[in-house]
Amino acid sequence: MRKETDVIIVGAGPAGIGVALAFEKLPGIKYAILESHQVGESFRRWPAQTRFITPSFHSNPFGLADLNAVSEFSSPAIFAGAEHLSGEQYANYLLFIARQHALPVVSGCRVQQVTPVKEGGFVLTSEQGELHTRFLVWATGEYQFPELAPFPGAQWCCHYAQVPGWQRFEAPDYTVIGGYESGIDAAVNLIKLGRRVRLLTRKSTWDPLGPYDPSLSLSPYSRERLYAAVDTGRLDIVFGADIVQVETRRAGGYRIHAADGRYWDDAQAPILGTGFRKGGGAQQIAELWQWTAEGRIALTDNDESTVVPGLFLAGPQVRHHDRIYCFIYKFRQRFGVIGLSIGQRLGLDTEALESGSGAWGPFGNSDCCEGCQC
Ligand SMILES: Cc1cc2nc3c(=O)[nH]c(=O)nc-3n(C[C@H](O)[C@H](O)[C@H](O)COP(=O)(O)OP(=O)(O)OC[C@H]3O[C@@H](n4cnc5c(N)ncnc54)[C@H](O)[C@@H]3O)c2cc1C
Repeated sequence: MRKETDVIIVGAGPAGIGVALAFEKLPGIKYAILESHQVGESFRRWPAQTRFITPSFHSNPFGLADLNAVSEFSSPAIFAGAEHLSGEQYANYLLFIARQHALPVVSGCRVQQVTPVKEGGFVLTSEQGELHTRFLVWATGEYQFPELAPFPGAQWCCHYAQVPGWQRFEAPDYTVIGGYESGIDAAVNLIKLGRRVRLLTRKSTWDPLGPYDPSLSLSPYSRERLYAAVDTGRLDIVFGADIVQVETRRAGGYRIHAADGRYWDDAQAPILGTGFRKGGGAQQIAELWQWTAEGRIALTDNDESTVVPGLFLAGPQVRHHDRIYCFIYKFRQRFGVIGLSIGQRLGLDTEALESGSGAWGPFGNSDCCEGCQC
């Protein structure tokens, strides 16, 4: 029997779960969420010591939803009893929300191929056979798609996204490449464990006169931790270090080369805090997007592919001009936009999404919240 539905969401991270919650406001919609592993998988893969940099606080009843919530009424702060959640705590929060709303998540189902159909819609090939859908929401994130080759010799290094925890890094000294959130997080966690760290960075992302957008400058949470790490005297920060190569040395260890001719030797493999592949998981269906010269994905105002109608992008890769939606509190603003666009084209009642406060949908003034005992 041909398996057919209105919409398929690929990925059950905060983007996929959040878009599904927008769909829950569209009576009669038929959809499924396909997830290659389990709900919140990327967060379960974070290093054990990593914490959310955006704080969680239960401000929902006063109309300001918890910064990290994917639904207007839920609060990760209340769910986990924490202000800076671990990856596991947040994954469990997402799972709780998915179960509470009985979201149609199919776990362990990796989408291997997407073929647009001439008459409209898509055929998805997955481990569980072929599926047909009219609309497709691609919400596969970035974390599971690290940039493992930012320069020659990067294969000798250890990428942040490959680290289950820092306690296994038992040598006295390490070199970290990259001065934004993941590089700083690696450095401060190693310093906490008593190691010495050399941090190689092109520039300071914590300049008080730097950009105000938290997508471009280090979060206050990381700044505080960085200053404490500097105070230990065990963190050496090298600026202007544009790393172009890492090579192994005959005598053992590694040599790290910068563009200006400087180099540093280390007995341990350098740690990469150099980010993720341009477009992250959207690279899996690269030919279905239009890519800008900077390697970004061009989208319509409704977050739809400019080359394949019916295909939407949700998550941190979404950009509109100088607006970077890389945090949950940013990209959740787009869930309702996608829901509304698809709901209207399916001829469904979209009132619940339209009457909401902002694009995210109605929130605030709730007597109670999901995930709390009140
Ligand atoms: C160290 C670190 C700290 C961060 N801290 C914060 C923070 O404090 N606040 C904040 O807002 N953001 C933070 N972020 C960013 C945030 O984690 C991401 O923006 C968020 O995870 C993106 O959500 P997503 O749903 O798009 O992707 P993901 O959470 O990665 O979910 C994508 C899902 O898609 C699945 N998938 C991928 N490919 C397929 C396929 N082919 N078929 C089926 N399923 C597939 C994956 O298994 C995964 O579950 C941080 C990121 C990192 C790395």
